[in-house]
Amino acid sequence: MAKINEHYLKLKSSYLFSEIARRIREFTAAHPDARIIRLGIGDVTQPLPPAVIKALHEAVDEMARAETFRGYGPEPGYEFLTALIAKHDYGSRGVNVSPDEIIVSDGSKSDSGNIQEIFAADATVALTDPVYPVYMDSNVMAGRTGAADERGRYAGVTYLPCTAENHFEPPLPDRPVDMVYLCFPNNPTGAVMRKPVLKKWVDWARQNGAVILYDAAYEAYIRDRDIPHSIYEVEGAREVAIEFRSYSKSAGFTGTRCAFTVVPKDVTGRTAGGERVALNGLWLRRQSTKFNSVPYIIQKGAAAVYTDEGQAQVRALVDFYMENARIIRSGLQATGLSVYGGENAPYIWLKTPPGLSSWDFFDKLLNEAHVVGTPGAGFGPAGEGYFRLTAFGSRAQTEEAIARIKTRLSR
Ligand code: PLP
Repeated sequence: MAKINEHYLKLKSSYLFSEIARRIREFTAAHPDARIIRLGIGDVTQPLPPAVIKALHEAVDEMARAETFRGYGPEPGYEFLTALIAKHDYGSRGVNVSPDEIIVSDGSKSDSGNIQEIFAADATVALTDPVYPVYMDSNVMAGRTGAADERGRYAGVTYLPCTAENHFEPPLPDRPVDMVYLCFPNNPTGAVMRKPVLKKWVDWARQNGAVILYDAAYEAYIRDRDIPHSIYEVEGAREVAIEFRSYSKSAGFTGTRCAFTVVPKDVTGRTAGGERVALNGLWLRRQSTKFNSVPYIIQKGAAAVYTDEGQAQVRALVDFYMENARIIRSGLQATGLSVYGGENAPYIWLKTPPGLSSWDFFDKLLNEAHVVGTPGAGFGPAGEGYFRLTAFGSRAQTEEAIARIKTRLSR
């Protein structure tokens, strides 16, 4: 019989979302008339920007004619898109990233999950806690973490706890690690990383020969002018950082699928023999072996984000969600809760009231306000005692959810 990859058996089951679904089912069975509002999911709700829709239609028409039909595209992505990314996402911020350092993909989930393949099987990993689960699970699958203990902690992982006490700023690892995943603006805490702090990380990586895997999927939500949108805004980052970006949350591409990863030519790893190797070539090799890039039609849709109309429409979309974030933040604060995030990020992270675990608070919110959020404990041990709400709902649902929380939780 075929032997399986037993590391998969070390994964924690998808306990979080199946448990949420179970509790909602039970509640609905007991209260069939209750209208539940879900502010737990990280998916967007507003349609694609009109400029994107127009470009998608045009690209579909091109596929209908032999003269303009496209088959397999270039593996790193079409240059019409990588050139726009280099100019608008980086050049406009004074950052030097060339089109051939940009590799287009179908999502930051795939890229942040797959990137670990270009590192050694015994490379060591540091992760923030709480964390976007993909970074953890992809390393569990690859056998880098060992088995989880009864508290769900993997002995082989260096955890960097992010709590209110340290302002959700991860401490530098207290032991040598090869790769560290950083995500800012953060899912789930909504925290951001300012330049001096990011510089501290870049300096640490340069001194310790580590690589930073920087997930900037939420950079479009940054409002404060002094917060970097890219890690490459920090001097020296080109030598030590890989950056993930996505159109999912900026332009509503969660179901359309387009993203990209920047691997500067300067960022290197080493062989067991100590020889330096550029990671750009390794990632390109990995992608061209296992992925055939994103459909032409979709890349044309993504390119439309960079037109004047596209930029204005994306800004309006982000502004819409950020107004939801403001409504949630101020509404929760009015109830006396301690609220974090939601100012430069679409996530609102709150401290559960004294004596209530994150699951207790989930039940309370469901039972008393008929609102669903996500218990912080689902994102890692340090998420216990916290709770996540998202700004991606419709305006009406967001307003109603907060009105209910204000009246029913303050009682
Ligand atoms: N990175 C983070 C931190 C996320 O929260 C998400 C989605 O929720 C992703 C990446 C995935 O993005 P994509 O839709 O591009 O796969």
